[in-house]
Amino acid sequence: MKKFLKRAVVITLTVAMAATMMTGCKKKKKDAATLVVGTNAEFEPFEYVSSKDAVIDKYSGIDIEIIKKVGEENNKTVKIENMEFDSLIIALNQKKVDAVIAGMTITPERSEEVDFSEPYYTAKQVMIVREDNTDITKAADMSGKKIAVIQGFTGQTVVEDDLKFPFEAFKKGTEAVTELKNGKCDVVVIDSATANQYLKENEGLKIVEDNEAFESEEYGIAVRKGDKDTLDMVNASVKKFKEDGTIDAISAKYAAASETAEDSEEPSSEEGSEEANTEE
Ligand code: GLN
Repeated sequence: MKKFLKRAVVITLTVAMAATMMTGCKKKKKDAATLVVGTNAEFEPFEYVSSKDAVIDKYSGIDIEIIKKVGEENNKTVKIENMEFDSLIIALNQKKVDAVIAGMTITPERSEEVDFSEPYYTAKQVMIVREDNTDITKAADMSGKKIAVIQGFTGQTVVEDDLKFPFEAFKKGTEAVTELKNGKCDVVVIDSATANQYLKENEGLKIVEDNEAFESEEYGIAVRKGDKDTLDMVNASVKKFKEDGTIDAISAKYAAASETAEDSEEPSSEEGSEEANTEE
């Protein structure tokens, strides 16, 4: 009887161990079904934190929608890791994230460190100045002006390497725009869609374009160099979403949303007439 009991215990333990191992395997499988994606959620309309229209966790934006769809297409749950823009490529190469989507322009320098997907969005740099500024009508006019850029963005590369003008680099776009509004700098160089967003959120600013000085840029999703599986997966989805209009529809949705937000800031005709009444 004792022997029987001992055997029963051994069997139970073996089954329990096997079950634990299987759970372990299952967990591993689950991890493989998660795509960890790095971003810098301070780049509206591409990625930002939003409580009301969140897409993954608290994150929203064109890029977040695109990467969510890439996940869905490939049976993967997307987990967002939010960090500074400058840390994204490092995190990717340290295997802390599997991919990066951050309105990141495909550049030769970055392509030495990571592999980029097919481009999914075309952008360009623009200049934001105060509305009353008449000095800056083209990029060359920034000579001798106080120029603000965002650290590590392609706007910095253009000012530093192409135009060779001195500049001040800020950690965040919002910081640079605040400096501009407060008259502490004369111009902010940043990507066009984000510049438009800042104009909607801040009064007294305007955008100056120079399509000769600022060449068009293309955004790509970055993966680790040589990670062919992730690259192929991302590329197949990006290609599909470009062809079937998914990316256009997502971009249009965000453009329309920011226009509606702008409209709602203006008084409605009813409020307007009330105001007129009060003034009478
Ligand atoms: N497109 C710019 C760059 O790649 C800015 C990107 C961003 O701020 N998220 O540097």
